[in-house]
Amino acid sequence: MATVEVDSIGHWVGGRRIPGTSGRVAPVFDPALGVQTKTVHLASAVETDAVVRCAVDAAVQWQRSPLGQRTDRLFHLRELLAAHRDELAALVSLEHGKVLSDAAGEVARGLECVEFACGVPQMLKGSHSSEVSGGVDVHTILHPVGVVAGITPFNFPVMVPMWMAANALACGNAFILKPSEKDPSASLLLAELVQEAGFPDGVFNVLQGDVEAVDALLAHPGVDAVSFVGSTPVARHVYETGTRNGKRVQALGGAKNHMVVMPDADVGAAADAAVSAAYGSAGERCMAISVVVAVGTAADPLVDAISSRIEDVVVGPGTDPGSMMGPLVTAEHRDRVTSYVRGAAGEGARVVVDGSSRTWGRGFFTGCSLIDDVKPGMRLYDEEIFGPVLGIVRVPTFDDAVDLVNANPYGNGVALFTRDGGTARRFEREVTVGMVGINVPIPVPVAFYSFGGWKASLFGDSPIYGPEGVRFYTRPKVVTSRWPEPTESAIDLGFPSSR
Ligand code: NAD
Repeated sequence: MATVEVDSIGHWVGGRRIPGTSGRVAPVFDPALGVQTKTVHLASAVETDAVVRCAVDAAVQWQRSPLGQRTDRLFHLRELLAAHRDELAALVSLEHGKVLSDAAGEVARGLECVEFACGVPQMLKGSHSSEVSGGVDVHTILHPVGVVAGITPFNFPVMVPMWMAANALACGNAFILKPSEKDPSASLLLAELVQEAGFPDGVFNVLQGDVEAVDALLAHPGVDAVSFVGSTPVARHVYETGTRNGKRVQALGGAKNHMVVMPDADVGAAADAAVSAAYGSAGERCMAISVVVAVGTAADPLVDAISSRIEDVVVGPGTDPGSMMGPLVTAEHRDRVTSYVRGAAGEGARVVVDGSSRTWGRGFFTGCSLIDDVKPGMRLYDEEIFGPVLGIVRVPTFDDAVDLVNANPYGNGVALFTRDGGTARRFEREVTVGMVGINVPIPVPVAFYSFGGWKASLFGDSPIYGPEGVRFYTRPKVVTSRWPEPTESAIDLGFPSSR
């Protein structure tokens, strides 16, 4: 593989860039060209310890900062993110490979999380009860948890860090971002913008790294809470290790999202939605549709409509405004994705469109693939593919479709396409999935709701961002107070009672 002279990407600690000292590095690629463009340093346990210590010190001051000061900085950050939207999107496209419009969309969704956090004083209001007993009042305080580590996946290098950092900072915590080593550059631009917005040094830090840095964060006593987004095996590991070490952990995992299409649905609209949701961002979205469940007579016209639309998907470099779908993130990932298509016929499925052999120069591209007659038990149904491969499962009835969705170990997102309100109402009540779309294929909740799947798509009991994010990044404290006159006090060894 061709290599050019490369930049090296280090950490951001205490308000400045710090070079890596571990001696361990990983390559960063331009997936459209298939060449290494940069090197990222991978933190050691010693470097991790230094970042955590810096964050612990910064958290002490930041948690005392007035709410107005915090929101001033958040409003400023919102403006800076908007002003640097194109620059952020270009960085994402260059290292992730997604098309520029998609990268700009991710920046916009991250920005919305900052907008939500600007209103945090409303969310941080405690409650107060007057006179719960003679002369006794009770009120609550929502206290920051302290130091939060955010460990993020490669597929949203701007949005997912903002899912976490916006609320974590707004609630008075210090934040350590451990981005994916596959596309680390956006994290440093985010850090610069956070600093320019006026957040104190050490409140937002970036630690580049891999499993060594993650395990060091999970073991470090200075880390109070961990937000993780990534694949299910790593999410399980992070949840189990972090909670065993006494930390509060939310760990969002992988997905296998179904789109159920009823016979009464508009075939054209359902096919448009399936193509957009399956092949957008080359299928590298945790809310991508990877299985269309065609109910009864919906199947044949739907397969025809989807396959004819695939011809219109323009594949090319993400930075080319004409491209609709970019490359996959690495050559290894592309090879893994195409192996599902190549193995499909052997598993008894029918390959309708085979994009697996399509290449564009040396980039990590693959075309769109469509596979019919997919069934549970096949590798391509049971496993998360995370690429532009859409499977069709044919079922006779609505109940079969719901049973299929509910039997799947993942429960991130699901969609139903129908024109019948009663069917939709039953569906949203019966599916065991965290985020449901009715005639909406990628139902990512807006920033003032919260995001989270069920089952193997979320470990822990706390969804991310929105109101649940504020709850996760705060610890409630209940204060019971009384202000007696000195003359009223007396010894009473009985258990306190309010009656
Ligand atoms: P990943 O699990 O490989 O990596 C996620 C993070 O964990 C990265 O920062 C990585 O450095 C770190 N990591 C990787 N292996 C590790 C290990 N063994 N021990 C400790 N840390 C480790 O995920 P990815 O490939 O970067 O992202 C794609 C996955 O993320 C897909 O499964 C996708 O569904 C999932 N995802 C889920 C959501 C969600 O909200 N549920 C959102 C986006 C992505």
